[in-house]
Amino acid sequence: MNYKVILQEIYNESEKLATLGKITSSIPELGKVDPDKFGIHLTTIAGEDFGIGDSEEKFSIQSISKALTVALAFSFLDEKIWERVGVEPSGSAFNSLVQLEYEKGIPRNPFINAGAIVIADILVTHLKNPKQDFLNFIRMICGSPKIDFNLKVAQSEKDTRFRNAALANFLKSFGNIHNDVDEVLDFYFHQCAIEMTCKELAHSFFFFANEGKTKAGVPILTKSQVKRLNALMQSCGFYDESGEFTYKVGLPGKSGIGGGIAALYPKNFVVATWSPRLNQKGNSELGMNALELLTTKTEMSIF
Ligand code: GLN
Repeated sequence: MNYKVILQEIYNESEKLATLGKITSSIPELGKVDPDKFGIHLTTIAGEDFGIGDSEEKFSIQSISKALTVALAFSFLDEKIWERVGVEPSGSAFNSLVQLEYEKGIPRNPFINAGAIVIADILVTHLKNPKQDFLNFIRMICGSPKIDFNLKVAQSEKDTRFRNAALANFLKSFGNIHNDVDEVLDFYFHQCAIEMTCKELAHSFFFFANEGKTKAGVPILTKSQVKRLNALMQSCGFYDESGEFTYKVGLPGKSGIGGGIAALYPKNFVVATWSPRLNQKGNSELGMNALELLTTKTEMSIF
């Protein structure tokens, strides 16, 4: 497969869509990013790297971090994790509060904010120095000591935290947050404020495509656990657009409102895209389109 040529074609074909969508306004610091950035990086399981555009520029990974926190929490708790968060698509916006009331404080899945806040609580319980230990985990799976939080983004999230604070307090009222609410939110805002390039993101997601082992061969999850998290990304990774992403792209993946998407074809490749202009559901317009072109051109989707 000539990925270099295919990425170039996708990049050229994306130009005509370049003004679709809007950069997020919900986190003021993220609104300052140049909306016209666009990068793609693809890493094969054999270890080849292909990048194009702004693929080596850092951006805020935001909700993409939820796939990495749930992986670490799953490695601690295994199946017990599902006592506190479900595995069903929510069909509602990522920051929605409504289902929590009916479902007695058990969020539908770990990729909506409510579920990710419960996972953050689990990590605050299990890690000695939660933020630093999580950062070290990310650096290890990525194979780069250069990954860090953007503290301005974390502060901006804190300043505008009202919806996430409502979710965390509501969860706490059901007994599904075990630590101090502010500590859990602080952890959550920092995980969202991690910055990576498309290349670093593709390398960080490598273990999802490599039967649970990082690019350097470190085992993170078992084959069965990775199959389960990939299934969950497939059904819930794009909030109320997960069906659409499955329909158009056909790969498990996870998006974030910084405009990034990480997706993978098990045992074949990991791909990361970044374009800050989002559609109505909070997913990257250009990124989704680029991935649709990728699986169409390569005829490599899991379906
Ligand atoms: N930090 C963002 C929030 O909590 C993450 C949301 C997202 O990327 N969809 O609202």
